[in-house]
Amino acid sequence: MKDIMPVGDQFAMMNLPYEALGGVISKETLSFHHGKHLKAYVDNLNKALPGSGLEGLSLQEVVRRAQGGLFNNAGQVLNHTLYFEQFSPTPRPMGEKMKALLERSFGSVEAFRKEFEQKGATLFGSGWVWLSADQESKLVITQQRNAENPVTDGLNPLLTFDVWEHAYYLDYQNRRADYLAALWQLVDWPTVEERL
Ligand code: MN
Repeated sequence: MKDIMPVGDQFAMMNLPYEALGGVISKETLSFHHGKHLKAYVDNLNKALPGSGLEGLSLQEVVRRAQGGLFNNAGQVLNHTLYFEQFSPTPRPMGEKMKALLERSFGSVEAFRKEFEQKGATLFGSGWVWLSADQESKLVITQQRNAENPVTDGLNPLLTFDVWEHAYYLDYQNRRADYLAALWQLVDWPTVEERL
């Protein structure tokens, strides 16, 4: 994954690369999720950074080193940037390399998807389910609470589904499993593969 660097002394709000995501995530959900939730995390990160001793570092490095409120806001900016950037309204299939890595780590792409959805559905409360690569390019699925990101454990995050209720409640209400199953239709696999 490429480092996300501050512009001057501020982290910028990422631009949403689409307006709506078909029938999977509505424009209304995106306007709140990106325009309100992510905006608040970016604003709070930029307010908390001065005087923290972590100015000028990449976002990943801030997440690795920060504690408390700064960690929560930096983590949520990193998590949402990876989440929004990995989707496309038109499907873009995975390449042979990613398919081979998934097969090596999980037996099959189908087994990976099943475990990923199951771990997203069973995470209690707010958080994220992640696919990451370890140092040997072995792929792992982890459940992370609240603002956590696998970079803290030395992993390289590749793909994530947000299971905070704000990510799906307007479109799916309490049906988190339906939201997770539908998200596969949006994954922009070449973007995920660039993070390897
Ligand atoms: Mn979110």
